[in-house]
Amino acid sequence: MTDEQLLRYSRHILLDAIGIEGQERILAAHALVVGAGGLGSPAALYLASAGVGRITLADDDNVDFTNLQRQILHTQARVGMAKAESGRAALAAINPDVAVTPLRARLSGTALDELVATADVVLDCTDNFATRHAINRACVHHGKPLVSGAAIRFDGQVSVYDLRRDDSPCYHCLFPEGEDVEEVRCAVMGVFAPLTGIIGTMQAAEALKLLAGIGESLTGRLLLLDTLEMEWRSVRFRKDAGCAVCGPNSEAH
Ligand SMILES: [Zn+2]
Repeated sequence: MTDEQLLRYSRHILLDAIGIEGQERILAAHALVVGAGGLGSPAALYLASAGVGRITLADDDNVDFTNLQRQILHTQARVGMAKAESGRAALAAINPDVAVTPLRARLSGTALDELVATADVVLDCTDNFATRHAINRACVHHGKPLVSGAAIRFDGQVSVYDLRRDDSPCYHCLFPEGEDVEEVRCAVMGVFAPLTGIIGTMQAAEALKLLAGIGESLTGRLLLLDTLEMEWRSVRFRKDAGCAVCGPNSEAH
């Protein structure tokens, strides 16, 4: 680390659990953030401020005026710009050391698979089931840790699928495809602004823990937040031995 890095990350280095070694692991890491909206904004901001060496930020959308209520990567001056590019500008302003690759794309198929293969951690900050399942399949295939968040109305949830571990459930174990409840989108249902901040920030915290190799992740636990009552619930769940994605008879194995 340079003198400037020692200074910039000094409040992390002071933490015994992180220290120089943990911070160096963070600096050497590549995080893939899929979605630069309500969840991806705080997640990417904290990953960048904390010094994750490389961040790939993928989003196929442009900044819309209605995004500004919660998507804190973006500014009114950047309405109309690609979200990935607007996000890159925000992250560079906080920490120019971080190599940010903006991708103006809805990741799927081979492109998604190849990117996941190069990542040390994947953050699912999207808002649709098809992409969530595609990200999960790629993470199972490559054995990458996946940090998943969701936020709608006043309700949020967050979990980790540490697919480096054989005993970890995957997203599909918990939310089997085809059983998806009707998709609810922010555009129709509304979303409480700081809820996306809380969940996205927790995704950043879990991702940084995984990268630094510290603490206990949310693997096997789903946290559910009701911000109207401001109450958390924790639900434990296990790997589904018959899972079509991560089970022994799946295509990925
Ligand atoms: Zn599974």
